[in-house]
Amino acid sequence: MTTSGPPEPKPGSQANQAGHHNLDPHLDRYAARTAGMTASEIRALFAVASRPEVVSLAGGMPNLTALPLDSLSTQIAELVAEDGLVALQYGSAHGVPTLREQICEIMAMEGISAHPDDVVVTVGSQMGLDMVTRLFCDPGDVVLAEGPSYVGALGSFAAYQAQVVHVAMDDEGLIPSALREALAEAERAGQRVKFLYTIPNFHNPAGVTLAVERRAEILEICAAHGVLVIEDNPYGLLGFDGQTYPALRASDPDNVVYLGSFSKTFASGLRVGWVLAPHAVREKLVLAAESATLCPPTFNQLVVSRYLSTHDWKGQIKTFRENYRQRRDAILSALEQHMPPGCSWTKPDGGFYVWVTVPEGVDTKAMLPRAVTARVAYASGTGFYADGLGSRQMRLSYCYPTPERLREGVRRLAGVLESEMEL
Ligand code: PMP
Repeated sequence: MTTSGPPEPKPGSQANQAGHHNLDPHLDRYAARTAGMTASEIRALFAVASRPEVVSLAGGMPNLTALPLDSLSTQIAELVAEDGLVALQYGSAHGVPTLREQICEIMAMEGISAHPDDVVVTVGSQMGLDMVTRLFCDPGDVVLAEGPSYVGALGSFAAYQAQVVHVAMDDEGLIPSALREALAEAERAGQRVKFLYTIPNFHNPAGVTLAVERRAEILEICAAHGVLVIEDNPYGLLGFDGQTYPALRASDPDNVVYLGSFSKTFASGLRVGWVLAPHAVREKLVLAAESATLCPPTFNQLVVSRYLSTHDWKGQIKTFRENYRQRRDAILSALEQHMPPGCSWTKPDGGFYVWVTVPEGVDTKAMLPRAVTARVAYASGTGFYADGLGSRQMRLSYCYPTPERLREGVRRLAGVLESEMEL
């Protein structure tokens, strides 16, 4: 028997399309849906951006330095001593009941009145995105999402071969008339729109918040077209003035799936989030969760639950907000001071991100290696669109670096942009 390396890819196969069939002998075995799975540009950046000399404005890592680690470690030791045999055991796919009750109290801050039975605990809200897409999307189904949108959501949609149609936004968030047009266009083309995915508060990556006046209109449009709304709200409690906005879910419990998370308000590494589903959807969601993970980690859920019942978690969120507000102030004033003419950016009132538009002729993706050489990194805008737009945009995350580092990063970035504009 002779072996002559991996077989030639069949015409039209993934191996052939990928154009690198020599690298992976399994290419012809992958399911068709894996064709949409590509490494996110942001993940690819992480390695270079995490070198200490580089000011990274690229990743959206929460700044955890304000967490009370001493008392947390006491709490965790007590959890093991008092409740270890439960904490270290399997639990239900639905999630720990006490935590689901506490989650309902948190959501009440945004006007949501929910029953704990309708909450399903997930491994971060990213798992919620995956489950919701798995439940609702067949290959080719259309999903509407703001343009730009959260890169992890685009990844989930691609993994299930949904087709993303972006809907324009402005400084007040998603534009209702653009939503109407997108729906009309899809209907003309005979496409099935399954849901609108939206991040109403302190948007990732755009940094804007959906105006309260637009909320009812958006819900009405979706209801009239039979389109479900997926409301992704990990930043809702991180408004710098302490303001919260009424959740979409609060006004239309039967047509909104709400995704929440403890990643930005407590600890991202615990990977605890949740889905609040319309009652009718909950059963299927629990089944989807069960087949994905059997159950979310009991230990981590009990850590979160204890933290909520023993710590001043609202005070802790206030401290986080204050830290992020200082960083937002630092980055905005540095942008004002250093950026060359022709650049514009959003002015976030909460959350982690500023969305910058650069002058025509500058390509943020092509510029990135030169920025990294100048020791600053950002996320280029193209990663936040499913359709190749975004080359004149970039996302700057101000959540992690100190205000001094942010100012230095923006100074370096402005220098790179200036030389780019001279080219
Ligand atoms: N949605 C949005 C808009 C996000 O920004 C993030 C995290 N960056 C997530 C969902 C996922 O968060 P997690 O899985 O940590 O809850």
